[in-house]
Amino acid sequence: MNDNLHQLRCFGCGARIRGEQAAPDFRCVVCGDLFEVEYPGWNQRGGTDRPNGGALKWLWRERRSSSELLDHSGVWRFRELLPILDSFGNAVTLREGHTPLYHLPRAAKALGIDQLYAKHQGMNPTGSFKDTGMTAALSVAKERGFEWVACASTGNTSAAMAAYAARAGMRSLVLIPEGKIAWGKLSQAMDYGALTCQVKTDFDGCLKVLTEIVREAPIYLLNSVNPYRLEGQKTPAIEIAESFDWHVPDHIIVPGGNLGNSSALGKGFRELRELGMITRMPKITVIQAEGANPLARSFRTNGGTAIDPVEAHTRATAIRIGNPASWRKASRVVLETGGWCLDVTEGEIAVAKAELGREGIGSEPASAVTLAGLKKLVADGRVTESDTVVLVLTGHTLKDADYTIDFHRGQLLSPEEAVPFASEIEALRRDAVEVEGTPKAVLAAIEAVKGRWA
Ligand SMILES: *Cc1c(COP(=O)(O)O)cnc(C)c1O
Ligand SMILES: [Zn+2]
Repeated sequence: MNDNLHQLRCFGCGARIRGEQAAPDFRCVVCGDLFEVEYPGWNQRGGTDRPNGGALKWLWRERRSSSELLDHSGVWRFRELLPILDSFGNAVTLREGHTPLYHLPRAAKALGIDQLYAKHQGMNPTGSFKDTGMTAALSVAKERGFEWVACASTGNTSAAMAAYAARAGMRSLVLIPEGKIAWGKLSQAMDYGALTCQVKTDFDGCLKVLTEIVREAPIYLLNSVNPYRLEGQKTPAIEIAESFDWHVPDHIIVPGGNLGNSSALGKGFRELRELGMITRMPKITVIQAEGANPLARSFRTNGGTAIDPVEAHTRATAIRIGNPASWRKASRVVLETGGWCLDVTEGEIAVAKAELGREGIGSEPASAVTLAGLKKLVADGRVTESDTVVLVLTGHTLKDADYTIDFHRGQLLSPEEAVPFASEIEALRRDAVEVEGTPKAVLAAIEAVKGRWA
């Protein structure tokens, strides 16, 4: 391994090890904490091999008109900042990244701010931001000669892992907890040829079983405790900075589940600042669902210094996590950037998702917590009229079509959840109407909604 280019540093005790020395469960053997990838040449004090930021901006722009496969990836286009492979020829890519940055004029107007955007990570090859992390970590697995990769997940991680494993000609193992299964996402894992085991336990139980398996068998763990995933997931920060011509927005707002994504985006912006490519970091704010809010609680009670795991309940399944693995990293990002961590209710999530939909921007329910959270930040003056805000939308709307249909049929929320938003919901709902097969009947249907629908 090219150990002079990257190493792993324990987030807890600061121990440094070479990449291939990490335990199979990616926990520090000294203190049990997680690792972060570090590049001694430039992001460690005294580093002597700093890339030239100005030259990189130029090079990365040039690559947009390149015909090389690697340059078509929105992750590997920035490969100078993630030298985690011996040879970039080992990179497994589905042309992830390069996701759109949409302006949201209607939501901006409703909120009274000028510059509101959505960075839509749901527009990745398997429909979530997990692809950007998976291309990085699975490429490492391939380079190190693994034949099998594995994760515990009912969701987007397994979909992404299975797809990248299939591309690489590798085998993948998905452990899913008994009970609530997200069929849309599971169907992807099946399609891409994963071995899927339904285990008679919950998510934490699955991860425990998997941890023991990877200690005994040559299977590479791809849950987000794997620090290489975060290296891929930091690249949307570079894309965002580049989109704003290296003048970063004031606020980035991101959903928080296991808290790997917020940690990764923070790392991306931090490294750009260390290299002098941007002059400041945006404020990074993490939004959780009220029923799965250990970090938000922690910020309310102890300033983000300790968390109490909760039993997680929310319909936004991608963030239904009660004991987030990367909470320390995410807490550091929120504190160092001056952002916040808030939670939002099921009603607020449903309304925000429908409002994004009305701008032509579909998303997974978990992604909509960002708009719901922004409303609170504007209401209490933490985000002001002249601020530029980017919402990170994490997943594609078709990942969870049942949620959307239930909302429009009025079957999603309980009466108690819906009551505070009755008028918004009334204005947003679009249930299908049954009509006779005649033009007259359809025209009558149009007449019937004219006055009611704005
Ligand atoms: C994984 C996921 C999240 C949560 O990201 P974390 O890194 O676990 O905080 C949010 N939204 C979607 C769509 C996801 O797939
Ligand atoms: Zn340690």
